[in-house]
Amino acid sequence: MTLMDDINDITKRAVEELEAKHRAPQLTSKQYVEVHRGLKCPYCLDDFIVIGSVEVDEEGAQAHNTCMVCDKEWNEIYQLVGYREV
Ligand SMILES: [Zn+2]
Repeated sequence: MTLMDDINDITKRAVEELEAKHRAPQLTSKQYVEVHRGLKCPYCLDDFIVIGSVEVDEEGAQAHNTCMVCDKEWNEIYQLVGYREV
């Protein structure tokens, strides 16, 4: 491998990382919920995601999720819809 090959390789990887970092989501919030039930990354559509624990504050409940494939992160929003007897 020549020096030029190494430089080209490093440049290509840096460009790919930058593109991934600035990638726009491919799913709307509605599609995320209704089509994929929150089981796919809204950026790369892979299902290898880590769903964070649900945190509740005065604005509501949300979980901070991470995609293990593209490294993107997003907040999943939860809504209270009722209760069940135990
Ligand atoms: Zn992803």
